[in-house]
Formats: sequence, C-alpha cells, structure tokens
Amino acid sequence: AIEARDAALSFGETPALRGANLSVATGEIVAVMGPSGSGKSTLLHCLAGILVPDSGEIRFAGRRIDTLGERERSLLRRDTFGFVFQFGQLVPELTAAENVALPLLLGGVKRAAALAQARPWFDRLGLTGLEGRRSGELSGGQAQRVALARGLVARPQVLFADEPTGALDTLTGEQVMDLLVTAAREQGTTVVLVTHEARVAAYADRQVVVRDGRVNALVAA
Ligand code: ATP
Ligand code: MG
Repeated sequence: AIEARDAALSFGETPALRGANLSVATGEIVAVMGPSGSGKSTLLHCLAGILVPDSGEIRFAGRRIDTLGERERSLLRRDTFGFVFQFGQLVPELTAAENVALPLLLGGVKRAAALAQARPWFDRLGLTGLEGRRSGELSGGQAQRVALARGLVARPQVLFADEPTGALDTLTGEQVMDLLVTAAREQGTTVVLVTHEARVAAYADRQVVVRDGRVNALVAA
C-alpha cells in the first residue's frame, strides 16, 4: 500500500494540504478528484516522494518514505514508481522508442536491451511503426500513449498519473484510460490517478475527492 497520514504542506503562506489521509492498496486504482487548487497534485507529489510534507507521514509498503533523504527518494522514484503527466513531457530530442526506454536506461539497462524491452509496448498501445518518431511528429493521443508506455515499461509498483488525459479530447482520453487500466491490471500496478473528469475517474476502483487540502470519500449525490 501507499499512504498519506495527516499530511500537511504549505507553500509559504499558502496551505496546500491540511491533514490529508489516503491509503491505496497494492494493485488498487484510485482516482483523486476535486476542484482546481484543492491540493490534488501536491498530494500526488507527496505520495511519490517528490515533495516532503511539513508534518504527517508518507508510507510505502509500511515503510516511511518522507524521512528518507533526497537521494534515497530519487532512487525510490526511479526504481519503484512510474509517472505520467498531463502533456506527456516526452524528451523532444529523443525518438518515441528512446523515450519509452528512458526509465530503463536511467536504471542502468544497456541501450539494446532497453530498446528491446520498449518495443512490445508499441504494438500493445496501438503505436506500431511510430518507434522512430520524435514527439513533435506525434498526435496528442499518440504522445500520451508513448508517455504511458514510458511510465509502465520498468514495471513500477506504483504509477502516478496527474491529469493523464487532460490534454486530450474525450474519446482519445477514454482510449488512453482503457489502455492504462488494462496494462496496470496485467502488471498488478497500483495507480494513483489525478483527474477532474468524472468519466476518467470512473475507470478507477475507488474515487476520492480533495477539498481544501483534505481527502474525502466520494459520496454519491
Ligand atoms: P489543479 O486541478 O489546478 O491542478 P490541484 O488540486 O492539483 O489543482 P495543487 O497544485 O496541489 O492543486 O495546489 C494546491 C495549492 O497549493 C494551490 O493553492 C496552489 O496555488 C498552491 N501551490 C501548488 N504548488 C505550488 C508551488 N510550487 N508554489 C506555491 N504554491 C503552490
Ligand atoms: Mg494539479
């Protein structure tokens, strides 16, 4: 499980989290919803060890990660977590295949082996033939599928996705979510998904809402 216990974090005078509690079970897919500025991304960054809360605890597999040093947290992110962001954030100088292989290369896998491991993701995500394209030569939906492959290629234990469909039209967004959920379930990957779209959140096992820096269970109206 990955969990936040009473996590609080302010940016200067601005409180972003005010005692957030969330526990995501291993293999569970949780959608984090809530208004703009409510603290969703801050919560995701704390869970992922990108930010450290001012108070409270972040635990992964029972072990505190908020007390780890910068270097240990960066190794944990590299070796154990995967990330997908709103605009894909592919490296423009690299080909799609190199982008997918990137987490493996950073983890010390040799170039040929990393590219070989990246290759099946292209067929799997409907990207056959696009391996050599740069990000500027891909559609938004294609780029986001490449970003998804990059997030999953190293078989992370937890995938953190912040508005992964935010830049896509509804149909393309649903296709990306379908692929994300299918691949995560196959790998047993835990997913923390931030979205403001109800149709996207509906792909999750459970939905929670962040309001004013606190997490509430979604209560049906
Ligand atoms: P959105 O849906 O717009 O992405 P969010 O729910 O992800 O919003 P956060 O990005 O977590 O919201 O921001 C929570 C609060 O913290 C907001 O008031 C925001 O302005 C503030 N904030 C977030 N990041 C920073 C930062 N790096 N520096 C200063 N304030 C920040
Ligand atoms: Mg956000």
